[in-house]
Amino acid sequence: MSSSKKYDYIVVGQGLAGTLLVHDLLEKDKSVLIIDSFLDASASRVAAGLINPISVRRCIPAFSEEYIEKAFKTYLQLEKKLNTNFLHVRSLIKIFRNPEIQNLWKDKFTNFGMDLYIKGFNNENSFNFLNDDYQSANVEPSGNLNVSKFLDVSKRYFLKTCDFVDDVFSFSEFNDEKISYKNYKSEKIIFCEGYRIKENPFFKYLPISPTKGEIMTIKIPSIEFFDKIFSKGVYIIPLGNFLYRVGATFNRVDLSDRVTKDGKQFLIERLEGIINVDYEIVEISAGVRPTVKDYKPLIGWHPKNKNIGVFNGLGARGVLAGPFLSYAFVNSSFETISRFN
Ligand SMILES: Cc1cc2nc3c(=O)[nH]c(=O)nc-3n(C[C@H](O)[C@H](O)[C@H](O)COP(=O)(O)OP(=O)(O)OC[C@H]3O[C@@H](n4cnc5c(N)ncnc54)[C@H](O)[C@@H]3O)c2cc1C
Repeated sequence: MSSSKKYDYIVVGQGLAGTLLVHDLLEKDKSVLIIDSFLDASASRVAAGLINPISVRRCIPAFSEEYIEKAFKTYLQLEKKLNTNFLHVRSLIKIFRNPEIQNLWKDKFTNFGMDLYIKGFNNENSFNFLNDDYQSANVEPSGNLNVSKFLDVSKRYFLKTCDFVDDVFSFSEFNDEKISYKNYKSEKIIFCEGYRIKENPFFKYLPISPTKGEIMTIKIPSIEFFDKIFSKGVYIIPLGNFLYRVGATFNRVDLSDRVTKDGKQFLIERLEGIINVDYEIVEISAGVRPTVKDYKPLIGWHPKNKNIGVFNGLGARGVLAGPFLSYAFVNSSFETISRFN
């Protein structure tokens, strides 16, 4: 790549946030240089990719409808563009732990408009491999994104359509007045570093409060596949070929990508509360979510330099929120939700 070339944007980080953003920038015919060296503990590489429109604990919508519509529409369009399947649209079955939770959900369904997302109830013991003694509910639209696959195929596409530097971005080599990094020059730069925003001198004052998550891949030898996601304390997502993902834990203290005894124990206990069949643990992995105390994403331009931006804080539900937020940011309809403008 030529050192005299000037880009419209440098994007630092090609996790879920950076990937969605670069797709939106390319749609606007912008030239982009991506910098990422795929650091340990990045959230997107371990995320289960669950797309769940409601908060299952309180049985209320998690996002406004436009977020949900935009998420499904965007991933379907990107599947076409990248000619790969990574979105799996399937029901989420919320299994009730006790009669009180069952009553709460039925009340929300009947009296609080939650029939928008609850598409019916299943009798107790409807699934012979589950502990579903107190009925369950079908939640839609829901599903899961194979995030790693989405990132990999996007990277292959970006290698043809953008420039890509496999490097750890070093702030000592960045000139914030000229927006240049080493020999690369740009109009603007947007940081999408996930929880590592804590180390970014321009944005480390933002209220990021990262949360580590551990997640387990299991094999259930007696069940090759079920085309549903089950949720009761943790979720179980089918991967195919007898494999399932079970997650996840939340830990604000330990921000390493090490798996822990406590994390494993938590996942096992919750899993055994859901299924009543034998299973084997195949793998446990960990990553750190870019969560924010007040759950508001961290998106916008730096108050002192409008050429330096941030797209971060996607939290524990980035797969659902990301497409709407990225589109809003790139298309500048962001004033009302940005923290900076
Ligand atoms: C265990 C677990 C389970 C999860 N499950 C779900 C789920 O089911 N559904 C859901 O919606 N969300 C889930 N999430 C949350 C989801 O992963 C995040 O919302 C999302 O991935 C955040 O993406 P990001 O791009 O902001 O951050 P990241 O994925 O952390 O990406 C940041 C990128 O920036 C790069 N980077 C950082 N600093 C530098 C630097 N200085 N130089 C170069 N590159 C740099 C990193 O290498 C990385 O590639 C889960 C998270 C975890 C940890």
